[in-house]
Amino acid sequence: MSTPTRFTLTQADIPTHWYNVLSDVPEPLPPPLHPGTKQPITLQDMTAIFPENLVAQEMTTERWVEIPEPVREIYAMWRPTPLLRAVRLEKALQTPAHIYFKYEGDNPAGSHKPNTAVPQAYYNKEAGTKRIATETGAGQWGSALSMACKLFGLECCVYMVKVSYHQKPYRRLLMHTWGATVHGSPSGYTDYGRKVLKEDPECPGSLGMAISEAIEDTVKHPGTKYSLGSVLNHVCMHQTVIGQEAIKQMANAGEEPDVVIGCVGGGSNFSGISFPFVRGKLVEKKKTRIVAVEPSVCATLTKGELRYDFGDTAMTTPLLWMYTLGHDFIPPQIHAGGLRYHGMAPTVSHLRKLGLIDAVAYEQSKVFEAAVLFAQNEGIVPAPESAHAIRAAIDEAIAAREEGKKRVILFNLSGHGLLDLPSYEAFFSGKLHDG
Ligand SMILES: *Cc1c(COP(=O)(O)O)cnc(C)c1O
Repeated sequence: MSTPTRFTLTQADIPTHWYNVLSDVPEPLPPPLHPGTKQPITLQDMTAIFPENLVAQEMTTERWVEIPEPVREIYAMWRPTPLLRAVRLEKALQTPAHIYFKYEGDNPAGSHKPNTAVPQAYYNKEAGTKRIATETGAGQWGSALSMACKLFGLECCVYMVKVSYHQKPYRRLLMHTWGATVHGSPSGYTDYGRKVLKEDPECPGSLGMAISEAIEDTVKHPGTKYSLGSVLNHVCMHQTVIGQEAIKQMANAGEEPDVVIGCVGGGSNFSGISFPFVRGKLVEKKKTRIVAVEPSVCATLTKGELRYDFGDTAMTTPLLWMYTLGHDFIPPQIHAGGLRYHGMAPTVSHLRKLGLIDAVAYEQSKVFEAAVLFAQNEGIVPAPESAHAIRAAIDEAIAAREEGKKRVILFNLSGHGLLDLPSYEAFFSGKLHDG
């Protein structure tokens, strides 16, 4: 075999710690504020909906946070994930670029989300939580958390954005299989959901609304805590196992990426692949370019404003310092449901403000063209969300061809698209619009 294309690690290489990028940035991140008092929120404020151990992690200034052994044992069911070199795609593009991708789709839930669902279920179990309420967009988060809750013996209740509840029945069925209860949001199960339905019975829902419902459910049910699959500091930190493994694997491949790419919805898989490389920039003064890719119809980093805003539509969450399109923004119904969020992780927003990361936005037709080209050369059918990163990686490879220079590209393939095939059908039949 001429060119090695698959770089694997052993179970012993599963990271022992998560990396907290906030410990290395030159300016502190402005803290979340209490929505009533506008003062920085306290541990007590947060423990109404989160267990104390996770709140402590959300606020920690520690650089390396130890991963509990029971979490590493479950990670070992699919980690370390492979790093692959897309040599056939390189050839198809006739590019001198080397394209590498970290593949996070090869686990039972099919995306990177179990990397945080597992520790969140673990810490809740440790804290005595009996039931977890959450929201989900396209269903990847809900399914990952359903699986993790079942593995730790917790009940799971998921408010799923209604348009996806109908468009993506297979993820709903996955959640059922893993024993969760699933409601289409806006639902008739909360005061907030009933209020929205009264005003607009056909409301397709949004992540912001589903978050409001899940939070209301949490505060009304004793023994229940709330869990979020993206955006928050601890969630982004849990995902850093991705980038830590990728650094080792790139070294085994004998290369260093010039550019690191991830798609962004709330920012967690992007954080996962990129924060360990951001450390390389901050500490070792490396020149790596780091690019976040978003959909043009929900372009939080490229078109949003950096300010304090609510994480949900009903204005119940703390105010987060982030790039936002406004908490009442309802994104068009694009097929990358996991990227339809009005805000962006405060950590990712902060790095953007400090000039440590770049951002680009693409229309979904361009994204699906890239997804199909990738599938036809590399086999894997990517999730529509992940295909945003693929689009950007392909454009980097084309730019390298035009320059006639080698460029080492690394992107995160956040999940497979085997449960998103109806979206591919819409693309093939010309029914996919750019909104
Ligand atoms: C949820 C999801 C995303 C978007 O969420 P982030 O927190 O921005 O990572 C991207 N890709 C896949 C496959 C997802 O499931």
